[in-house]
Parts: sequence; C-alpha cells; structure tokens
Amino acid sequence: MQPLLTQMLNLPGIEVEYYRDFDSHLILEVEAITTQVICPRCGELSSHLHQNHWHLVRDLSMSGKTVFLKVNRHQFKCRTCGKPFSEKLDFLGHRRKQTDRVAEFIVQQVLHGDKLTII
Ligand SMILES: [Zn+2]
Repeated sequence: MQPLLTQMLNLPGIEVEYYRDFDSHLILEVEAITTQVICPRCGELSSHLHQNHWHLVRDLSMSGKTVFLKVNRHQFKCRTCGKPFSEKLDFLGHRRKQTDRVAEFIVQQVLHGDKLTII
C-alpha cells in the first residue's frame, strides 16, 4: 500500500497499491479495500474472489502529470447461485474509460463556458 498516494488520490475505500512515475504521466495501481460484496442476483454476501480484471482509466491530473488508474475490478463468484459478477466501484461506471470525477470536471467546464483546460 502507498499511504501518501492513497491519501492524495482521495477516493473513499480505494487504495493505491503500486505506482509508476513517467515524465508526463503517472500510473497508479488501485483496488477497493472491500473484500465482501453483495451478489446482484440473489443478494447474498460473497467474499469468494473469482479473478482479477485490470483496466486502465483516466483520472484527474496530479502535480501537472496526467494520471491513469490501473484499476483492479475484482470478480466474485457467488457461492449461493454460482454466478460470477464484478464488484461495483463508486468512482467508475461500467466500461468507462475515465473516472466519474473526470466526466464531472468536463461537464462543469462546458456549463461555465470556459475553454477546456488541462485535466
Ligand atoms: Zn448469488
């Protein structure tokens, strides 16, 4: 765990596990701290990790660097109904290429008629 980066990232329940620092961008490897999730089909609590699904999404910049999050969206397998399902992440919609706060930032800039600045 990277305590300082986790704090700077400021996404509740999300931990930065590892990072790679490049000249123009930063890649943060993140995952949810939660180890128990509710099956969307039968509502049973599950903690049986099925597999890890990694994907890269854009987040707000930090210290002038473009930030990408390498997100581990855990896949669980429900022991009751036997179906696999992905965990829900509050900061990232399903199949999105950017975090919700990036989308919100763009919407706010458009609403206020500002020219898009670097995010
Ligand atoms: Zn189930």
